[in-house]
Amino acid sequence: MEDLPNGFLYNPKKTPGFESAGDAIRRHESEAASGRNITDYRDSQQQALYDGWRVAPVEDSAQREVVPEHRSWTADNGYRPKDVLRYLRMPDPAAGEVGPVFDFQELDHIERTARRWSWVEISLTAIQNNVMAIKGMMRPETLFMAIIKADAYGHGAVKVAKTALNSGADQLGVATVDEGIAVRAGDIDAPVLILSEPPIDTIPLLLAYKLTPAVSTAEFAVKYAEAADAVGMRAPFHLKINTGMNRVGVRCSDVIALLDTISFHRALDLIGTFTHFATADSHDIMDFKLQRQRFEEAIALMRARGYDPGIVHAANSSATLRYPEVHYDMVRVGIAMYGCYPCPMTIGVVNLMPSMSVHARIRQVNQVPVGEGVSYGLKHRSSGFAKTCTISLGYADGLSRTLSGKINFIMNGVFHPQVGAICMDQCMFEVDQRTRNNIGRIDPEVGDEVVIIGAQGNCFITVDDMAEAANTIPYEIMIGFGNLRLPRIYT
Ligand SMILES: *Cc1c(COP(=O)(O)O)cnc(C)c1O
Repeated sequence: MEDLPNGFLYNPKKTPGFESAGDAIRRHESEAASGRNITDYRDSQQQALYDGWRVAPVEDSAQREVVPEHRSWTADNGYRPKDVLRYLRMPDPAAGEVGPVFDFQELDHIERTARRWSWVEISLTAIQNNVMAIKGMMRPETLFMAIIKADAYGHGAVKVAKTALNSGADQLGVATVDEGIAVRAGDIDAPVLILSEPPIDTIPLLLAYKLTPAVSTAEFAVKYAEAADAVGMRAPFHLKINTGMNRVGVRCSDVIALLDTISFHRALDLIGTFTHFATADSHDIMDFKLQRQRFEEAIALMRARGYDPGIVHAANSSATLRYPEVHYDMVRVGIAMYGCYPCPMTIGVVNLMPSMSVHARIRQVNQVPVGEGVSYGLKHRSSGFAKTCTISLGYADGLSRTLSGKINFIMNGVFHPQVGAICMDQCMFEVDQRTRNNIGRIDPEVGDEVVIIGAQGNCFITVDDMAEAANTIPYEIMIGFGNLRLPRIYT
């Protein structure tokens, strides 16, 4: 806890060893006051950056023409294009040129959060909690497929997969073959289902990486079986049935015809049968009931014709939390695992913990005179009562430009309005400098932590809050911030 000049207490939650610019200035001031030497920031490597690399003496005067002596910046700050070019050119050891030596492994140790003062925090504890909480409301024999498509909804597929499997998940679900390969590259050998039929060209990859495809066409099934047979492998698959969403899958009325067409092939193993609900999160349950009925009829028909459907599954997060009667043999949980209630009807059914939060540190504080505009278009005008703070977080990082002026950030445990257009890499918010009822004056400083999604003090902003403001769903918000432009910190 820090005692601010205005008597307001707050926990700056700075990372250990982090020195804000304000701290640095105070340290320099106290060092100067006590007569101690202030370290010159232009240490040797930095000096080298200013000077460019140096050239070994060259005897031949003709060569001297090609590699002229280094000329330093002049006192009048005259611009020397040649100097710039020399700085950009890499030294050529063959020509006897030497330059400053950088230890690139050492440079790697400059943390990504130090390079960019904004980051995403992922709580694997929350994911563990959520998997266990959801499993707690399932029959013990029902399997749990953790859906980790789109890099685990922006959380990091391998880390989430390992956490989910350690917390009781049985299988993994991904959207694409490359996502499946990424899981295998993470040294995970759990069953991985590609949730819709992949292109035929990926069949060798499916076999090599032991990825199970969803199948909905005879053409794919036969090519897959032939390729497996040719290398002496089985060709396991899940049959995907379209019961009404009309996205992918074999139409429920065509299931038997498809199975009759492909069942001759000895390598094929039907190990699962599934469908996907279009309206599991809606108030109206008519369409859900129709899909459920069609699915159960298709399964019954398969059994009657002697086809074992294998693992029967249908429920996404909404259906898992709302309709235990459609858990069947396995549930496929995505959004709830990441701590979002998929629809209002599921709030409180289990205790979910949010797994993603978004943070930044103030890069600059501007005292904007009254009436002056802020950001592109200058649409927001300063009241003069507020300090305008800039953070390096923009729409390229997942903070949608449509949110401009519609959201709050949290700093010092208080909400502050985002102002002006959100830029590609940065945006601004205002800290009111007037003393309000029960809040002391907050003086923002470079380096202070800002919460964009998450909790600080008594304030919190959820992914759902932001989704609502952006007129979208939490999935898109998470995936926006998880696009890997922002460093991720796992907690
Ligand atoms: C994405 C997806 C899920 C998970 O959906 P949530 O709503 O995130 O639980 C389940 N099944 C299929 C086929 C999916 O594509």
